[in-house]
Amino acid sequence: MILKHIEGGADFGLKPHEIAVLKTSCELGRVYDELGLRWREEVKLHPEKYGTKDEQGKAQELGLDNRYAMIVEDGIDNYKEVPWLEKFPEEVEEISKKWQELSGQLLQGDSNPDAKALGKYFSLYAKAFAAQMPDGQTFNKENMDEMWKDVDRVWMGVTGPVQPIGSREYGYYDSSGIRAFPDFRLSFLVDEEVIKTDIQATKKAMQKHLGIRFGPYDVFKDTKKALDSVVIYPIVDIVYTGSLDFQPAGQSLPNEEAVFKEFGTKSFINAEVARGRWLLSQQVFKKVFKDESSASLLQSVNVDKDGVANALAGHELGEPLFQTELIYQQLGNQNMTLLNEDLANLCISGIMRDRVAAGELDNNDLINHAVYLLGTYLRMINTGRESPTLQPYYIGNALQGLRRMIDSGFIHKDGDDWKINPNNIEKLFEITEYDLETIVKFSENGDRKKAEDYLALAQETDDIKDIIEHIKPGTFSQHR
Ligand SMILES: [Zn+2]
Repeated sequence: MILKHIEGGADFGLKPHEIAVLKTSCELGRVYDELGLRWREEVKLHPEKYGTKDEQGKAQELGLDNRYAMIVEDGIDNYKEVPWLEKFPEEVEEISKKWQELSGQLLQGDSNPDAKALGKYFSLYAKAFAAQMPDGQTFNKENMDEMWKDVDRVWMGVTGPVQPIGSREYGYYDSSGIRAFPDFRLSFLVDEEVIKTDIQATKKAMQKHLGIRFGPYDVFKDTKKALDSVVIYPIVDIVYTGSLDFQPAGQSLPNEEAVFKEFGTKSFINAEVARGRWLLSQQVFKKVFKDESSASLLQSVNVDKDGVANALAGHELGEPLFQTELIYQQLGNQNMTLLNEDLANLCISGIMRDRVAAGELDNNDLINHAVYLLGTYLRMINTGRESPTLQPYYIGNALQGLRRMIDSGFIHKDGDDWKINPNNIEKLFEITEYDLETIVKFSENGDRKKAEDYLALAQETDDIKDIIEHIKPGTFSQHR
């Protein structure tokens, strides 16, 4: 559709180099979709190679942990890792070739610094994508990691209104948390000044209060650069590929610690997606909480302020914090994958009372924050419970979050349905702060046993089963 207009001469008010990037992105959308589909089939259909949450595969047995490789049989009962190109030659070749062509065009034709930055980025990206190793280098984990880090270094210099996002997330699509998923988005910056200002306030508060709480911890010192030098990008997605079931409302990149230690991070906030999700959250919420006072608490939530600028942006800004490569090794990829979403929420929720005490927020903000989170947890039950790719959200976010709400008495069963008791808000945030401290402490000490004990708290208890039953009747019983 967009392509047709471009060919007809439309420029959408964009500069020539921006149009060129948009055009190639559109042309490659279908190819990325195909690649994403085939990649996911490969990983999902071969647990014996890639492993699962509960089961070891050849990957774990043989230490095949190259994020940018697929596993193939090599003789009888022997396995090795090969580049994406070898497993999916058609798609990978086309993607790499088109980006190289675009890069040549951008680097030659245009003196605009933004065009140059994009040109340099797509050149390195295309080479890494097809694993075109520099002379004398072999395809292995260390070399690929270095190559992609260089891609990210250049990408951090892409600061214009057109943002290519090849996020290479791991943990969502490969349940053993090893392999990077090769999807791609093209996003444009949008004018969201109010949200931008509110997000800056969230960032400042996190720097201040997390600093007071956790300043002396190495895990904080080692990751705080990601927060200190983050640039916030309110965006909309123009081209969106690969991960068909999950469009991020917020995302913090790059993934690699080495790069965000040097350059900080980019935090993408897609308010359009967040607003759409909040509509769905409200519908699900009303299936569980049917009384008037819950409905009025729900009405008090302002999705832009309480949702996007506080909870969502705070989550994204918290995402890289307290998570070093060392901790991934000590606690294990899979554990980290399941902890990650919970921890990111706790980074913003765990300082809410500090912000009230400092006069930055008032008590209503606490309640709105909790009700917004409650809505997102319930939506996650609706969409994430049965989706393997959403397990980090379901387990690390919905189950842990609901546990805190039930244990604190912030929500409780009353008759057939559930009610909110705002009087227990302090208790809820006490448990929240306790959980945040627990995670930071076992991360600091590299204590895997404590991490696993904490993860074991995420259970579908009878109370949670009852909530699920309200949302999806018949999940646990035939008829009610
Ligand atoms: Zn997250």
